[in-house]
Amino acid sequence: MPDPLNRPRVVIIGGGFGGLAAARGLGHAHVAVTLIDRTNHFIFQPLLYQVATAALAPSDITAPIRWVLRHQRNADPCGRFPTTI
Ligand SMILES: Cc1cc2nc3c(=O)[nH]c(=O)nc-3n(C[C@H](O)[C@H](O)[C@H](O)COP(=O)(O)OP(=O)(O)OC[C@H]3O[C@@H](n4cnc5c(N)ncnc54)[C@H](O)[C@@H]3O)c2cc1C
Repeated sequence: MPDPLNRPRVVIIGGGFGGLAAARGLGHAHVAVTLIDRTNHFIFQPLLYQVATAALAPSDITAPIRWVLRHQRNADPCGRFPTTI
């Protein structure tokens, strides 16, 4: 989809630590950021063990990617599973 402001589009596949850091790093760049993940949420993996042992609920270590990037106006997260590039 063309960007209404005619900015270059950066597509990031994966909304984990790396993808989110890249998207946030481009927060003030003159680009349109599309972040694609097969899920719609970020998982804080270091706390997975606590979820496995029922010390935490799954919702304690996950956050919707759209929520994480809610203040970033040039970002457009979407839940997709790309099979070709
Ligand atoms: C149980 C556990 C404990 C850990 N503890 C620590 C720790 O204490 N300290 C530490 O430094 N590191 C820890 N790690 C490692 C750390 O979590 C990873 O190094 C880090 O998450 C890697 O970041 P990433 O962005 O490369 O990948 P990820 O965070 O795994 O993100 C990858 C993202 O890409 C998405 N994705 C994958 N394939 C596709 C596809 N085909 N299409 C669309 N989306 C896709 C996934 O849904 C995911 O959101 C731990 C890992 C685990 C599993």
